[in-house]
Amino acid sequence: MIVMKFGGSSLATAEKIRLCISLVKNELARHPLVILSACGKTTDQLIATAKAAKQGQVDTDALEQYHRQLIDELNLDYRVIEPLISQLTTLLHGVSLLRELTPRTMDHIMSFGERISTRLVAAAMAGEGVVASAYNSFDLGLLTDSRHNNAIPLSSIEGEIKEQVGQIDPVPVVTGFLGKDQQGNITTLGRGGSDFSASIFGAAIDAEEVQIWTDVNGVMTCDPSVDGDAQSLPVLSFNEASELAYYGAEVLHPNTLIPAIRKHIPVRVLNTLNPTDPGTKITVEPVRTERFAKSIVYKEDVCLINLTSPRLMSAVALLSNAVSELTRHEVGVHMATTSEATVSLVTDRHYDEAYLEEPINNLRKYGEVEVERKKAIICAIGQELKGQVGVLGKMFTAVAEKGIKAKMVSQSASELNIAFLVDNTEIEPAVRALHALLLNDRE
Ligand code: ADP
Ligand code: ASP
Ligand code: MG
Repeated sequence: MIVMKFGGSSLATAEKIRLCISLVKNELARHPLVILSACGKTTDQLIATAKAAKQGQVDTDALEQYHRQLIDELNLDYRVIEPLISQLTTLLHGVSLLRELTPRTMDHIMSFGERISTRLVAAAMAGEGVVASAYNSFDLGLLTDSRHNNAIPLSSIEGEIKEQVGQIDPVPVVTGFLGKDQQGNITTLGRGGSDFSASIFGAAIDAEEVQIWTDVNGVMTCDPSVDGDAQSLPVLSFNEASELAYYGAEVLHPNTLIPAIRKHIPVRVLNTLNPTDPGTKITVEPVRTERFAKSIVYKEDVCLINLTSPRLMSAVALLSNAVSELTRHEVGVHMATTSEATVSLVTDRHYDEAYLEEPINNLRKYGEVEVERKKAIICAIGQELKGQVGVLGKMFTAVAEKGIKAKMVSQSASELNIAFLVDNTEIEPAVRALHALLLNDRE
């Protein structure tokens, strides 16, 4: 079996959905299990609709119209998705009456995106002569913990998934992004989480390969929307791809590679709009290129926290207290540096100001706290960085020439990355400067 995952960008229009179906048709002999995201920007729209409901406004017109157009253009019957739209509307009325929107309710509301897309695409497949049925991932055994909006799959689910999938005859069209906790609440795996679902299913069924179909020719030397000169990377190692996703390359969800690595299942990133392009193959074997790194990535909207103690506390104790305070609030730390009296930490991007308020206030008991928001991590990734001496100087010079001062430079012990901090507003010039260096410079 293989897993074929189609992202929202590949399902945005009826024409694109037809392309996805033709790709599935081409692979029928390899018994595809299809994983889908919500169509187009549906998840963003659901989030906006939920927030409006919390303010007392229930308006599903745009969502309904968008899906109705897809249904019409694919010659389907609206009844395929009508019950889901009506459940969504009822739920939104509940939110508007209570003026309350918990993470659990948000997960339930977001789930309609994938539940609708799978019904719609499975019906469209039937129209094209492909025998297919839609399934909720959680009905096939994808159970998670209860961390709403960012749930982690339970470690024991593979046997159940394998057994459930084994009983399906026609092509299973399965919701990405979604799970259920042990209390039966719908959970989601974090934004962009359908990539993760694809590799969870891939590992559970021992798939021959996992295909991630998206809107670019695979993983590239940088985000092509930042620099149009970006080139696709034919091969990446699991470790390089993991680092790349971790440091913000939207093309892969950061957890995607974890299940695939465990089972050594190759992952391919391919372009739905250009299916003959070989895209990127992610495998165990590292490949060294002549460039100083493989890709320049960035993570925007991170937050820098500087904690300075009155020197009564050692740097070690200060670091340990700061990290445990943030960990207690489940705030991830991406970078850390220490000096004798100051600890600097960079937190992940998905925490808003309100969420960080409490842990930051708690840090004040250890010393003076200074918070700088709207920062970005810029990172060069590639196993070529291993053992290189002059590369840091070259990178610094390239960004300094654009008037950018890089802060908090760090390299992990694996030497697969070199990262530093800039302002959000400096992302584009910094990425472009390093990318130009990457394309033109040789080791
Ligand atoms: P999908 O809808 O298929 O899940 P995403 O929008 O999540 O697609 O991911 C694809 C997008 O990721 C591309 O359009 C591109 O702008 C962005 N991206 C960021 N960094 C990279 C990179 N290094 N290589 C390729 N794409 C990248
Ligand atoms: N639909 C979800 C999102 O937009 C999951 C995904 O697309 O992978 O985040
Ligand atoms: Mg995505």
